[in-house]
Amino acid sequence: MFHKSATKLTGLYLAIVMVISLFFSLVIYQLSTQELDRWIHRPEPVINILPDRDTGLNLRQRLEDSRMQYFNEAKHRVISRLVIINVCILAGGGVLSYYLARRTLNPIEEAHAALERFTGDASHELRTPITAMRSENEVALMNPKLTLAQAKKQLQSNIEELEKLTTLTEGLLRLTSLDPSELPKKAAGLDEMIHEAIAKVEPKARAKHITILAESLIPQKVVVNRAGIVEVLVSLLDNAIKYSPADKTIRITTAVDGKHATINVTDHGMGIKAVDLPHIFERFYRADAARSKQDSEGYGLGLAIAQDIVTLHEGQLTVTSRPERGSTFSLRLPLK
Ligand code: ADP
Repeated sequence: MFHKSATKLTGLYLAIVMVISLFFSLVIYQLSTQELDRWIHRPEPVINILPDRDTGLNLRQRLEDSRMQYFNEAKHRVISRLVIINVCILAGGGVLSYYLARRTLNPIEEAHAALERFTGDASHELRTPITAMRSENEVALMNPKLTLAQAKKQLQSNIEELEKLTTLTEGLLRLTSLDPSELPKKAAGLDEMIHEAIAKVEPKARAKHITILAESLIPQKVVVNRAGIVEVLVSLLDNAIKYSPADKTIRITTAVDGKHATINVTDHGMGIKAVDLPHIFERFYRADAARSKQDSEGYGLGLAIAQDIVTLHEGQLTVTSRPERGSTFSLRLPLK
């Protein structure tokens, strides 16, 4: 599809170049012939000498003949040079037009490929719980001796699958609806946002006997979308809890340099392998260890959403990690 578009665009660019080139060639031709014509027909001082014996023409007539001959030759020379120039422009313009067409289409092609990947991944993730629910329900319906207890269990399982679908669709909607105009910014303290995020994940941490330490936080104000940054912090804390064994500690620290404020979230959990590290901010990416872990439900969208929010703040979200030792996620925000 994009190959065809590139060819069409090349043709269009080339047509524009050639129309301009032919227009100027015509103008140059007109001007040069007019100039020559004026020169040929300029008034001569009276030259009238006796006629030539052989041709019977006098000097004025001979002079006019040779001028006309020169005029015609010059016209042909102008035409042939303009033809050569236009052929060169056609060849060079063709190459340049193709190059420009590729440059124009490349970002569109990449965006299209990313959208296709996203749609494919999203439909795959949506299909999995739907298929599971459907086959379980079919099996239950085919059982003539289905008891009330079994039916209730089936309904419970359906609700769990529906909850997963809700999480997934909410994540998908959040990813596609992130828009700078929806993230109005105001001054907010780093410490306030951190405490708000901790309050949101506290029940999960308590359930796993995980302690979240956030001491000596710098009360630096940053101009951000408070809800957005709290969402990022909740995502980081949620992962830190999810990928840590029970009874561990998660530590939050802050730092401020001349131009940036940084929030670090450090856990002592399973860590991330070096092969997974470059991909964990990609949509739907889940490291194998996380995938196989039963209690860590998720679709690999949390960090992608967090990354998008941070990018809209012109900040950076980075990670350092050591397998079996733990990870540190750093959220860096500009101070102005
Ligand atoms: P998920 O819903 O799978 O947690 P995320 O986008 O939040 O999706 O994270 C992507 C992947 O990054 C996870 O599946 C996990 O493999 C890895 N990951 C994220 N945070 C941590 C962490 N604190 N410790 C270990 N692995 C992590």
